Amino acid sequence: MLNTVHPAEFPVYPRWSIRPARAEGCLLWDEDGREYLDMYGGHAVTAVGHNHPRVVRAIREQAEQLLFYSNVVPLAIREELFDALAAEAPSGLRSAFLVNSGAEANEQALALARRLTGRAKIVSVEGGFHGRTIQTLAAAGTEKYRELARIGGAGDALVEATVCVPFDDVAALREAVDAETAAVLFEPVQGLAGARALSSEFLRVARERCDDTGAFLVFDEVQCGCGRVGAFTAAQAYDVTPDLLTLAKALGSGLPIGALLAGPSIVETLKNGDLGTTFGGGPVPAAAAVATLGILADEELPARALTLEHSLRTRLAPLAGIDRIVGKGLLLGLELDRPASPVLAALRAEGVLAGGAVAPNTLRLLPPLVLEKSHVTRFATALEKALAATSNEVGA
Ligand code: PLP
Repeated sequence: MLNTVHPAEFPVYPRWSIRPARAEGCLLWDEDGREYLDMYGGHAVTAVGHNHPRVVRAIREQAEQLLFYSNVVPLAIREELFDALAAEAPSGLRSAFLVNSGAEANEQALALARRLTGRAKIVSVEGGFHGRTIQTLAAAGTEKYRELARIGGAGDALVEATVCVPFDDVAALREAVDAETAAVLFEPVQGLAGARALSSEFLRVARERCDDTGAFLVFDEVQCGCGRVGAFTAAQAYDVTPDLLTLAKALGSGLPIGALLAGPSIVETLKNGDLGTTFGGGPVPAAAAVATLGILADEELPARALTLEHSLRTRLAPLAGIDRIVGKGLLLGLELDRPASPVLAALRAEGVLAGGAVAPNTLRLLPPLVLEKSHVTRFATALEKALAATSNEVGA
């Protein structure tokens, strides 16, 4: 058994027993040279594939020229990123604030919504996950995470300011959003909950209720954004534009960068000092993001995500052991007739990495969007074997 937690490290991550040494595209090799097909994509981070040469070159060239300077100066590479984001984003959301992570982007979105409306209440959706800061934990759609926000009672008010509506429950949403609401926050396609796509109707009603009440509609696209669900953002895939939209994970292909997107009505209210960060939008992560956005567009990866979704659904639907396939694009949940965890271990033994979810029977797929048809076949064959090897777990 490999040692998965360093003795001098906080023991907070349940780890797989593999030690990756290098990766390329959809493949990864461990320290012993064993190959894995990565259907987990480093947790939805490697949308353009591991170590895309254009991203690696952009990082190297930027690092050689200027490793860092803060937001106190304008930088050409940051400006390139603002242009690239504005070109890809929904037409109503052409301005960006650059941060370091998904949680930071969501934290700033909630803070802005609360500050600009002067209201405290957040409406979120059961199963949603938005990060590990206190505001984002308090808005989580899972009690386990809301509990972490309470921190000895100090976060209670934030937790109590959240109304969490059942998943895709349009009537509950209509009722929950009122004149006290600062923001309605959700992932259009939930990740951690098990790759669950909300309906178009839910998004449309959320937009309407926010317009009626003056609340801000916030899409957390940290996991489902950057091309994964068939358009650059889920907002574009669903044709519903929120007031604020957050991106991270795949944006920097592995370098830490996130973005909070907004339109002119919000941006016009901002003044110096309202938001800030030292590292957010630093030149090296910005260079990685510019390259990533270029690849997503040039290789037409959002459209490819839909084609590959179709291939995966067609190939996997007949497999015994899969009750239902949910999700959108290359954020898919396989709802199994048994716990996912032993199946995931059996898949790793077959040389395939995939993810779990809060729903214990759901196996989550978030592969690079450069996935190939041959990888679909390889995955389906490995899954068939993993399901056969775990048939004793059915109904467990
Ligand atoms: N929002 C969603 C939908 C996520 O999936 C995650 C991370 O898994 C986050 C926010 C938090 O992002 P980060 O870990 O970069 O803070």
